[in-house]
Amino acid sequence: MKLGIFGGTFNPIHYGHLRAAEEVQAKLNLDKIIFVPSGNPPMKDRELADARNRYKMVRLATFKNRSFTVSDIEYKKKNKSYSVNTLKELQRHYKGARLYFILGIDAFIDIPNWWQPDRLVMLADFVVISRPSFKFAGLSSSPYIEADNNILKRLDSGKIESYKTALAGGRNIIMMRLTPIEISATLIRKLLYQGKSIKYLLPEEVESYIISNKMYKLKV
Ligand code: ATP
Ligand code: MG
Repeated sequence: MKLGIFGGTFNPIHYGHLRAAEEVQAKLNLDKIIFVPSGNPPMKDRELADARNRYKMVRLATFKNRSFTVSDIEYKKKNKSYSVNTLKELQRHYKGARLYFILGIDAFIDIPNWWQPDRLVMLADFVVISRPSFKFAGLSSSPYIEADNNILKRLDSGKIESYKTALAGGRNIIMMRLTPIEISATLIRKLLYQGKSIKYLLPEEVESYIISNKMYKLKV
């Protein structure tokens, strides 16, 4: 079994995430994509919605797709979760499965700042997906991959669609160009703070949930 693991704060989930999951699943022929919404860190972040609400929105956004599932392992934890533990737990749960850890270029660039990154890169194959405003060429300085600069540039320009190489530690990294969708949760929160429409940026079920629960309003 081949499983895609897609983590994030999903604050809130939007069509950028959903379309990315759809395309990665098709391109790599994955049996399932498991969305893993993060828990709430001990230090409160004013803009980060409650973990339960973010988890519920991911459920609402994905329930119609039989190959999408949502894991509650991070959101249920009282303490901060680390991807290393999440991947180890998922691997224990899905014995024998091959795990593909999916993340955008922006998230991959940040990995050296995560907990135990050297171990993390050995726990799954990595799928690094394109995202508007970020370039694969920016990965050339990553300590975890040995990539040919020219190939990264060819990916950015669209001359090649994907590129597979080795990660430090022996697993694979697959870089993949997807349909560019310039939506971020930051943009959606900003529109909501300004009282503007968020229609067609995320599923209707999620939009209704946000509105009926009065989420993402500026507190005065
Ligand atoms: P925020 O603006 O709050 O950071 P976000 O839109 O970046 O929210 P996250 O929950 O931070 O969403 O992202 C989860 C994962 O999805 C990350 O790996 C991120 O790179 C990826 N991602 C988010 N939006 C897109 C998009 N539009 N296209 C491709 N990848 C995306
Ligand atoms: Mg983000």
